[in-house]
Amino acid sequence: MDKKQMFSLWYVLAALVGMILLQEFFAPRHTQTLTYSEFKQALAAGKLDDVVIADGIATGKLRAEGLDQILPKDKLEALERAGGEHGFATVLVNDPGLVAQLDVAKVRYGSVRESKWLGALISWVAPALVFFGIWWFLMKRIGGGMGHGGLMEIGKSKAKVYMQTETGVTFKDVAGIDEAREELMEVVEFLKNPDRFKRLGGKIPKGVLIVGAPGTGKTLLAKAVAGEAGVPFLSLSGSEFVEMFVGVGAARVRDLFEQAAAKAPCIVFIDEIDALGRARGVGLSGGHEEHEQTLNQLLAEMDGFDTNRGVIIMAATNRPEILDPALLRPGRFDRHVAIDRPDLNGRRQILEVHVKHVKLAANVDLAAVAARTPGFAGADLANLVNEATLRAAKHDKPAVEMSDFDEALDRIVAGLEKRNRVMNPMERRFVAFHEAGHAVVAEMRKNTDRVSKVSIIPRGIAALGYTQQSPTEDRYLMRKSELLDRIDVLLGGRVAEKLVFDDVSTGAENDLQRATDMARHMITHYGMSESLGLATFDARPVPLYLNGPTMPEPRNFSERTAEAIDSEVRRILDEARERVTETLTAHRATLDTLAALLLEKEVVDRSMLDRLMSEQVAPAQLRVAAVPVRPE
Ligand code: ADP
Ligand code: ZN
Repeated sequence: MDKKQMFSLWYVLAALVGMILLQEFFAPRHTQTLTYSEFKQALAAGKLDDVVIADGIATGKLRAEGLDQILPKDKLEALERAGGEHGFATVLVNDPGLVAQLDVAKVRYGSVRESKWLGALISWVAPALVFFGIWWFLMKRIGGGMGHGGLMEIGKSKAKVYMQTETGVTFKDVAGIDEAREELMEVVEFLKNPDRFKRLGGKIPKGVLIVGAPGTGKTLLAKAVAGEAGVPFLSLSGSEFVEMFVGVGAARVRDLFEQAAAKAPCIVFIDEIDALGRARGVGLSGGHEEHEQTLNQLLAEMDGFDTNRGVIIMAATNRPEILDPALLRPGRFDRHVAIDRPDLNGRRQILEVHVKHVKLAANVDLAAVAARTPGFAGADLANLVNEATLRAAKHDKPAVEMSDFDEALDRIVAGLEKRNRVMNPMERRFVAFHEAGHAVVAEMRKNTDRVSKVSIIPRGIAALGYTQQSPTEDRYLMRKSELLDRIDVLLGGRVAEKLVFDDVSTGAENDLQRATDMARHMITHYGMSESLGLATFDARPVPLYLNGPTMPEPRNFSERTAEAIDSEVRRILDEARERVTETLTAHRATLDTLAALLLEKEVVDRSMLDRLMSEQVAPAQLRVAAVPVRPE
């Protein structure tokens, strides 16, 4: 059951409980129910007074004393506990002589027409109100799905679109993610002055997808774009589109775009777009009609949207890989901005932003704090400053001291460690040598792309670090030597771990998978294996049904061949490992230096790498400048 359904269920439960309490509260509390015979005996004994007869029920007062002969023990006890005069009620039987007896006993008696208006109110009107309330609540939600002139106009889009005319956030508030900021400058330019931008021939972006881990400042950045451009900021979360009624999500999308058009120029920010933008048609169950409708509506709106009206759609996700590819096609979210967790320098800048309004003692060294917070995202750092300030306030200090930061840090790190968000020192060393291994092998191979950046800042969920290589040119063909060099680079991480620690980690899983795939492809698709020759061995996946999930085709080769392929894959990987071990052993000093540099700086860019390589490696061993190879 999803959160929303739970929510309305709570309403119903609360209403029921409320009704029961009301009944309890207003019902006469100390009323003794008498059987008719008890009633008659009590009457004869003169124990009744103020009898009211209405609707076949007699109520009135009962004197407790001297009823021992008449009432059973439990009723007597109940009366005694309450003490004194007491209410009673009894259901009348057809007894024409009753009035005469009441006269004889000199009891005051009478009847009423409609005395208990309060009771009637509670027993009839209150439940009616409650049910009307529930009905209204449900209608409101369904009404959202009906769009205009739907079931009820009060139901217009119940997705919470937050509108800020002025975000008050500027690029000054966003620190440590300069690259992302640069990329968004263009959007700001356009929003500020669409006409001039168009006149100068700028290509107007329509959708910008911001990709980054939670708390890295995606929302902040989007707000800053709105703030810099001075346009309204409309935001809502992707999960708000996901509803239980078919059609509601789609109506919300329509509604959102209508609101945006009315506010243009403006920025629409959809947080957690993965909630609504999951790839369609995955899984065998076809019951995702609502989700597909919503996504289709979003695609249609984006296509139909004229950028000239000055609306930019921004979206954030930390899982771009699960998004429907259609969302990323040109004209939709075709601009991608990646935000990494900040490096040492970035963290210091972010801390500086957040201590702007905090009184710091002279002994606070933000660079040292930054050095102690690898893996922290911007939100974690903001939290850290906040904690430290709270601590100082608790101890009535005039300013926040370094010890406050230390204590806050210990607490936050413990919390983050539990959620696997920070690495312990041993893990960092493993990752540093692993990434240095990739990088050094890449530097020593002639046929592979240049390393542009090595980092041990965790990226995404799986990767603890990364070595980025950027191709120097567009490629159409790959030679066997290049493929082999690539395999070497992939194995560099694992081999470095083994060399340095004489132990290996799970961090190489993805590397090994890719290396294995590459080796297998060389054999089965490219005819690059001497022993298996030029034949290709296919096991192409075929869809189970149109656009359905795929299933491997029965393979077109024998068991013997399959074994031969497996052992050939192993041979390629084993030989690669030999070569890589040789390379890294020969350049162990370079490996160690790079790893140490990584542990210190976390990110090593091309220029630092150049300096390091020229110091460590004899010029003759350095890779020759790439000679462009063109397809014949
Ligand atoms: P996300 O949307 O990526 O989950 P947010 O934008 O909501 O993250 O960030 C949460 C908070 O963390 C921000 O309000 C801000 O205080 C702080 N923060 C995150 N990144 C940065 C940054 N680069 N510079 C300054 N503050 C940041
Ligand atoms: Zn690796």
